[in-house]
Amino acid sequence: MSYHAEFRCFSGCEGSWPVTQAIYSCPSCGGLLEVRHDVEALRDRSGPAWMKVFDDRYKQNAWPYGSGVWGKHEWVMPELPERSIVSMYEGGTNLFWAERYGKSLGLQDVWVKLCGNSHSGSFKDLGMTVLVSVVRWAVEQGLEVKAVACASTGDTSASLAAYGAAAGLPVAVLLPRGKISTAQLVQPLAHGAMVLGLDTDFDGCMAIVKQLAAEGIIYLANSMNPLRIEGQKTVGIEIVQQFDWQVPDWIILPSGNLGNAAAMYAGFKMMKQCGLIARYPRLVMAQAENANPLYRAWQAGKKTVEPVAAKPTQATAIQIGNPVSAPRAIRALEAMDGMVEQASEEELCEAAARADRTGMYTCPHTAVGLAVLEKLVARGTIAKRDRVVCVSTANGLKFTEFKVNYHDNKIPGVVGNSRNAPVMLPADYGQVLDAMRRRFPG
Ligand SMILES: *Cc1c(COP(=O)(O)O)cnc(C)c1O
Ligand SMILES: [Zn+2]
Repeated sequence: MSYHAEFRCFSGCEGSWPVTQAIYSCPSCGGLLEVRHDVEALRDRSGPAWMKVFDDRYKQNAWPYGSGVWGKHEWVMPELPERSIVSMYEGGTNLFWAERYGKSLGLQDVWVKLCGNSHSGSFKDLGMTVLVSVVRWAVEQGLEVKAVACASTGDTSASLAAYGAAAGLPVAVLLPRGKISTAQLVQPLAHGAMVLGLDTDFDGCMAIVKQLAAEGIIYLANSMNPLRIEGQKTVGIEIVQQFDWQVPDWIILPSGNLGNAAAMYAGFKMMKQCGLIARYPRLVMAQAENANPLYRAWQAGKKTVEPVAAKPTQATAIQIGNPVSAPRAIRALEAMDGMVEQASEEELCEAAARADRTGMYTCPHTAVGLAVLEKLVARGTIAKRDRVVCVSTANGLKFTEFKVNYHDNKIPGVVGNSRNAPVMLPADYGQVLDAMRRRFPG
């Protein structure tokens, strides 16, 4: 059994490079790279045999194979030695049956993949474990890395800082000042990363970190680096695994820089190539109306994405106007009979609050996905008997300001249909009893 993976040009130019090389774009065309696996070699096992391998490892104790990412080691980064792996037990997150929320829309089969129930609180851990492990492996082979760095809307930086600290690698993060939550800002500070708050947006931070990478000052940890995608692609595989290898009808994914959309397709493509599944689900990329360059391209029937200046949105992690992985996402849309839909600020705020009333604790990005689900059901695009998975990208606990502002009625333009204000009373039994009788009459 010798499996192999290497970097190739995404657009098909000649040449290949080892995954341990610090290279982020194609030297011929300047475009994106991808990790290409030797799929023929992987087909030495049948689809059902791979299912058994993955099921036998899933959430078990043999380190690092209990991780949802490293349980699929051969499909992710086959030549990476175990000793270089930096794992914090990624993946294996709850696929939540959103029974009451789904029924409120007339659906029986709505599921929310809670990727935010993870070490640093977002799905970014799935890709970061792979990137940081490969960097450690490359450093062992002599690659000099002064710092691993990223631009971030808050979650990539938190994840990179945690994995970098676990590996003992220096980390620098470039953040748009004032545009991320308090929790997201504190995470890299706590892990000892160099935190740069810049007077710009995510796209401005991305332009600077790309230049630092091109000049060899830092090692680039953004999802432009396809190593991230190799880890993130396991989420699609894991969803199917959690349905006992049945493919859902729809997957709805909140999308900004579009790396995760590319990863979703990569995972499904490998499952099909290796005989685990026979068809794809339909993929819906959900954007905030205030940061919707892919939606605009899709509406106009264009195959290229024009950058826009992203406006402020509660969904801060997807406030991106110039998505790096746009060409990868377009390919995913084409292959998975995909579509793009958007949600306004009001729609996402109300969807989050409604979902929270059924027991979820929804981050604003996940709420973009739920608002899009509601639209597609209302329009009849998603049928009542369809099986739908919404990917929850981050943990709601990172977005306390969003929750507080909603329930305090402080989000401009949002009515707050599900507002719930605390009842403040003196410590008086009679007054408490009166208040309870008003709230729960009869
Ligand atoms: C990064 C992120 C996204 C968007 O993922 P892309 O790969 O940039 O499209 C969505 N939600 C959250 C919470 C994120 O951190
Ligand atoms: Zn090329």
